[in-house]
Amino acid sequence: MELLSIPLPSPAAGTNRMLPILRFGKEGAGPKAYIQASLHADELPGMLVAHHLRNQLAELEQQGQLLGEVILVPAANPIGLAQTVLGTSLGRFDLRTGQNFNRQFHNLSSTVLARVKSQLGSDSHTNQHLIRAAIRGCLMEQTATDELSAQRLELMRLAADADVVLDLHCDCEAVLHIYTGTPLWERVAPLAGLLDARVALLETNSGDDPFDEACSRIWWDIAAQVGNEFPIPLACLAVTVELRGLADVRHGYAERDAIALIDFLRLQGIIAGPLSQTILAACEPTPLAGCVPLTAPTAGLVVYLRELGETVKAGEPLIDLIDPVSGKVQQLLAPVDGIFFARENRRYVPPGTRLSKVAGREALRNGPLLSA
Ligand SMILES: [Zn+2]
Repeated sequence: MELLSIPLPSPAAGTNRMLPILRFGKEGAGPKAYIQASLHADELPGMLVAHHLRNQLAELEQQGQLLGEVILVPAANPIGLAQTVLGTSLGRFDLRTGQNFNRQFHNLSSTVLARVKSQLGSDSHTNQHLIRAAIRGCLMEQTATDELSAQRLELMRLAADADVVLDLHCDCEAVLHIYTGTPLWERVAPLAGLLDARVALLETNSGDDPFDEACSRIWWDIAAQVGNEFPIPLACLAVTVELRGLADVRHGYAERDAIALIDFLRLQGIIAGPLSQTILAACEPTPLAGCVPLTAPTAGLVVYLRELGETVKAGEPLIDLIDPVSGKVQQLLAPVDGIFFARENRRYVPPGTRLSKVAGREALRNGPLLSA
């Protein structure tokens, strides 16, 4: 295990932060996996999974079981991790700009295509090699002067040429679920099974360029732009894993999740040895555009009427939103048939708060599909 630190530009005279990286195996020795935790800095279940992964990966490395390289970033957002306002940690948005830390990553599809177009040929491996080199080249040429842009750029440089990218997040309160690219589902399904994910949300363009999609979409975007005579593999298997809710920081969960991720790396030929568990059948995937949020029309006290993970029918009562002054109770109804998989953790909310998400089968929404 090698511990590296990437310096970020100083945000103020006399101070600067570092992005810590753990590397297992040898660079270029075989397939590469990139795993990061807590890009939304206050989403901590992934940080605990990274803690367990670090020990397991170090052991596997000593046993000579690493066939490739694993980069583990256990705290992917040092800027957000230092944001505390009046005693509350705020890790989703950058306080200086208001930007979401997991949006506006680099959309390199057209730049990379312009660079490689005249060199593509009939061999998929050669095309993969060319495109990877162009991705690295584009990212090396980019510069960033402020800390937030530099953090995004450094994370992309570490991840964008990996075969597997796992971005560990969580929702406010949720059952385990994942986001990934629609074309990747067949290869991601075993991960959903290993993690016992209850919901898998698929999209090719979620809007706003989240990290996993910035890494993986280049491949299907380029494949769609060139003819069949130029085979382009889906060479980056990128997944956002939502490790339940903010408070689900427990050794029991994290140990199991780490074992599932290691098993997935075994399936990808990055780690040797047999799987430590049998793979459960994956949940049925649903479109991200079918995930319908329920928003509070007024301020109020929130009481959930159904449990997370339950299947609900459109029109069934999901939430009581109570005005404590008038005593009026508004019943908010399930917007579609589907799985009630995530919800807000605050129990008194201002108007406009997204309270819950139901994963339906039909793609009903368009435009940017991710929450703010
Ligand atoms: Zn997140």
